Amino acid sequence: MSSQKERTTGELIEEAEQKQCPAQKASCYVEAFLKELMCGKCFPCSFGTHESAIILRDIIAGRGTQADLPALTQIAEVLTVASRCKKGKDTGQFILDLLKTGAFPEHIEGRCSEHECSLLSEYRIVPERCIMCGECQVVCKVHAVIGEKKIAYLSGYVPFEIVSKRCTRCGECLRVCPNEAIIVVDKKDVIEVGVS
Ligand code: SF4
Ligand code: SF4
Ligand code: SF4
Repeated sequence: MSSQKERTTGELIEEAEQKQCPAQKASCYVEAFLKELMCGKCFPCSFGTHESAIILRDIIAGRGTQADLPALTQIAEVLTVASRCKKGKDTGQFILDLLKTGAFPEHIEGRCSEHECSLLSEYRIVPERCIMCGECQVVCKVHAVIGEKKIAYLSGYVPFEIVSKRCTRCGECLRVCPNEAIIVVDKKDVIEVGVS
């Protein structure tokens, strides 16, 4: 799917626990399940987890459709009743619980309220508010912030910028910015108003 480093089962479960976005959480958890050798003893689990992984990948990538929600619900319900072991049943219940959060329909509409789905939202720096202090650059672990810290009495500095392709949407820069210069925008709105 991408050139990203393959994550291990442990990393995926840790990621699922850290995520706030229910769609991301569900996706990480199901991907972690699939990383392990599938015992294949029962069809609902071996088929259902693969199908739900495909649907969840589409939803977090903004490719979800209205038909995905009833399909995902049905797969999860079947998993809870027809799986032979607790692992399959728990996976179904986990998906059902997350579906109740209401986050999925908004993803189908092209929004992620938690701003964790990188294809649905974007971090940006408002140039007029950036005082070029460099705090965002210091905390960014993936070097997604470019810019040069301003030195008093020298001119010629330009506001900092976030390279969207590198940004993981972790939100650290937002927390440290002293001038509220960092904002998160829904990509849908950006496209709609033709800003990008
Ligand atoms: S529900 Fe349990 S027994 Fe059935 S395929 Fe999944 S892991 Fe195997
Ligand atoms: S922390 Fe805020 S003000 Fe400072 S450089 Fe980054 S965006 Fe600009
Ligand atoms: S959201 Fe995280 S990854 Fe993106 S620019 Fe800010 S600190 Fe870096």
